[in-house]
This record gives sequence, structure tokens and C-alpha cells, in this order.
Amino acid sequence: MKKYIIIPILFLLGALSIKGIFFFRETTIEETITYQKEYEITLRQDLFSLMMAYPEYIIDIEVEEDHQVYLVLKSGNRILYDDKKEKTPLEKIANPDLQDMMEQQYLLGPIDELMPEDYNPGRIRVYPLLKEVYGGNPREIEGNLIGIQIHAGYHRFNSNNAAATFLKKAFTELNYQSKNNPEIWSYLHPIGGTYNYRYIARTNRLSSHSFGISIDLAIHPADYWQWATKTQAEKRLENYPQIIVDIMESNYFIWGGKWGQFDIMHYEYRPELIKKAKYFSEKHKDLWYENLPVEDSFVSEVVCLIEERL
Ligand SMILES: [Zn+2]
Repeated sequence: MKKYIIIPILFLLGALSIKGIFFFRETTIEETITYQKEYEITLRQDLFSLMMAYPEYIIDIEVEEDHQVYLVLKSGNRILYDDKKEKTPLEKIANPDLQDMMEQQYLLGPIDELMPEDYNPGRIRVYPLLKEVYGGNPREIEGNLIGIQIHAGYHRFNSNNAAATFLKKAFTELNYQSKNNPEIWSYLHPIGGTYNYRYIARTNRLSSHSFGISIDLAIHPADYWQWATKTQAEKRLENYPQIIVDIMESNYFIWGGKWGQFDIMHYEYRPELIKKAKYFSEKHKDLWYENLPVEDSFVSEVVCLIEERL
């Protein structure tokens, strides 16, 4: 190629790459600002949902000089909100912080099909929080259990943080619905189980049944992702009575049927996720608390505390 052609081409390439670098930097800064703004909003919404969900156990928020945010618990223990580590989905489950636990928004209401495999809101659990609220070992946990009468039997559930109260309320509503509807009845009974101090199969993590905050309804072979194919689970979901899901969700239970790694029989008392879904599923415009019922005195108290501390 002749020199007089090569030089202008090199010049053009140079100009394009410089423009490319500036263009790239410009969008990155913009993206960073949007990301930071969203992060600050999500942080406040997560703290709010947690404080509303565990009102007797989370008593304050502390911000360190390095800007790390901690929840202060009744015992004096503190839990870090965000360790700022990049994690794979498996690492998030094995070593989560509160931000990881709250990250996937739980979806209220009906679903048409099985969720994607990596959508599992509630599968991530911060054990120091569960231990603080429901008991740190089997002896403590068992001391907090009470028997809830469901049909002919009693089932042990944790009385702390109103877990047992809401299970009882849910079953009053479910019994009413199933009275004249044998189909609903067959999805509820026989109850699969509630309290059971056990580790999740092939892991060293405690099942939520260990804290007495989960209930398995009538067990079906297509209910669990490790027992059944997606097609089998989807067939089971097709006929699943929505009224059961609605009643359980309105009493602060999340449903394992909404997990990609499905667990259709499983309901778990996780008020922080239901509250986040209830309060914050609508897109906010500017202020993180703009959709909240601030006329409720506890709501406004928690909003004020978050605004004051952060
Ligand atoms: Zn279960």
C-alpha cells in the first residue's frame, strides 16, 4: 500500500479509537452514577423491609467511617449489610450478606410457568439473623416452639417474631376455604412436616425447617427439583390452587413453588421478602419511601431512623 494511503488510514483509526475511549468513559461514569443511585435506594428499602419484618430484634442501624452499614440486633450483635464482594450464585448461598439475601425480589401473586433456574428468592439465608430471632441451637429453638393444631394433629412452629401466630391465622383461612372443597384439602393434607432440625441434603447449611419457620404441605412426587423434571413440576403447578398461595403470602410466607429450584410443598415464613415485595415492587420515581404508608406511626418511625442514620 502506498504511504499516502496508509497515513490517513492510521490517522483515522487513531481518531476513532480516541473517540471510542472518551465515549466509553462517558457512558461508564453515567452508568456508575445510576448504579450508585439505585444502590442507595435499594439499601434503604432493604433496611426498611428488614426492620419492619423483625421489629423486636433489629433495634438500630450503624454506619462506620468506611461507610459500611450494620444492623444492630437486640443482643448487641451486628450484621453487615454488604461485604462488597463479587460472588457467584453458589458463593452467595454459602456466604451471604443481607444484601445478597434481599437481592432477588420475591414475586407476589400468580405465576404462569416455572421460574428460571437461577431465580430463587429466599433460598439465600443469613443464619446469624435467623439464630438471633428464632434460637441459636436446637435447645434454644425447641424452647421457642409451640404446637399449632392443624386438622387432627399438632405441628411445632416457632412462636418468636409472630411466626406461629401467622401460621395459625393462615390455617384458619385455609380450613375455611377447604371445608367444602376436597380438591384444596388434598393439596394441604396430610401435612408433610414443620420443625425438623436438619441440614439441607449434601450441604452443611441448616434447612429453614430447623428454625421451625417452614411448613411442607401434602407431599407430591413432582414437588422437588431434585426428584422431578421441569415438565412434571409444571404439570403440578398448572392445577395448583392459587388460593393456597395467596393465603400463605398474605401471612408472610414465601412459596418454594416460585423458585427455579422448585420446592412446591414448601412454605417459609420470611416477612422481610414479602414486605419488600409489598412495599417496593412498584417502580419508585425519586424518593425511596414515596410509596410507603407513612401515616402508620411505626412506618414513619423506621423511615426517620434510616434517614437519620444514613
Ligand atoms: Zn420444606
